[in-house]
Amino acid sequence: MKILNLNSPNFDKRPDNSSIDTLIIHHTNMQDADSALKRLCSPEYTVSSHYLIDKHGVIYQLVPDHLRAWHAGISSWRGKEMVNNFSIGIELDNQGAEPFPPQQIDSLIALSKELITKHPIEARNIIAHYDIAPHRKDDPNHFFNWELLASEGIGIFPNINNTAEQKVLSNLVCEDIIKIQHKLKTFGYDINLTGEFDFQTARVIIAFKRHFCSSSFLTNNQELWTLEAEKKLNHLMSMINEES
Ligand SMILES: [Zn+2]
Repeated sequence: MKILNLNSPNFDKRPDNSSIDTLIIHHTNMQDADSALKRLCSPEYTVSSHYLIDKHGVIYQLVPDHLRAWHAGISSWRGKEMVNNFSIGIELDNQGAEPFPPQQIDSLIALSKELITKHPIEARNIIAHYDIAPHRKDDPNHFFNWELLASEGIGIFPNINNTAEQKVLSNLVCEDIIKIQHKLKTFGYDINLTGEFDFQTARVIIAFKRHFCSSSFLTNNQELWTLEAEKKLNHLMSMINEES
């Protein structure tokens, strides 16, 4: 695997005793890879990532793994805030609403396989920017195929097919909603157990469905809790219980 090195000035030291245990996937939401690389390497913008993969599958390294790149912003996963401290960030060149070409995904798979052998990154910690900042982020877009990645041993994905089950679970009472919120929190999302489908819950549900129900993501109201989402979340719960 060939990696081209560029030097972004946008980094600092990771906190002492922090190990790299999380991998965050982004899309650039920019015109092309050149403009994204320029921005990520410019001191004017205090942003960066460890890697960027262009649409041809060329991998650029902008910040060495052991240093802290600035890709996550205000964020939280599994109760830990400031995800930049303990993660590696990979940007995928993408204008925001377009599919990811196979050669780009092939390179991402190869790079991710290498990173999970180098660092103690658990499958359930290979996640999207929107998973760690659901209230403000939407990347990578719903074309990103997490199921394909999981079939390559990268990340976790429920092994059930429920795409036909678009039934919305309505009439849920406070206790039901708390149960859903509790499971989402156990999985890793930053969510308060309010017993209401409030704004923070809507944003986490949208993140969860963009990640795990992506093939049906556009077919109904994204913040509504569906039977597909319910079954997939329950399956994920059993998968992480088996792990621990
Ligand atoms: Zn991002």
